[in-house]
Amino acid sequence: MDEASSYHCVECGMLSQYLYKRFNAGITKVSFCTECGHIVDKYTLCDPVIMLLDALLHKPQVYRHLLYNINIPSPWKLFLIFFLCDAFMKWGSLPSNNTHRDEDAFERNPVFYIALEVDFYMMSCVAVSEWICFILILLTLLKIILPKLVRYI
Ligand SMILES: [Zn+2]
Repeated sequence: MDEASSYHCVECGMLSQYLYKRFNAGITKVSFCTECGHIVDKYTLCDPVIMLLDALLHKPQVYRHLLYNINIPSPWKLFLIFFLCDAFMKWGSLPSNNTHRDEDAFERNPVFYIALEVDFYMMSCVAVSEWICFILILLTLLKIILPKLVRYI
């Protein structure tokens, strides 16, 4: 880990110089935030499955970890994970998913489960279109508001 880098606390966003320190004999000491007192990044020592579950729950701490504290070689993978988590949350909140959840439902009606996958793909398209609309509206607002703000600076 590069000691000259700065990291962000996943709880409050405060800057921290270290995430953890490694000593001889394999001892690792996590760093605590000077602002809030929590562990700066609890996900550094966490299993990736826990991070995935927290990403599914849209916890901001896991997104701070992914955005600030790790070096992602290809950021499009992060956006793909975000879109899949968002689509999964939308798919899980559909009312038809909560009605038929017994064990042998697949054996009785496999077409029903294939239809659920179609719903997942539809929710993926909804998530992507929502993000495209959000980015377009944000860029439009920035184009309208930014020249007015520059006049006052
Ligand atoms: Zn903090």
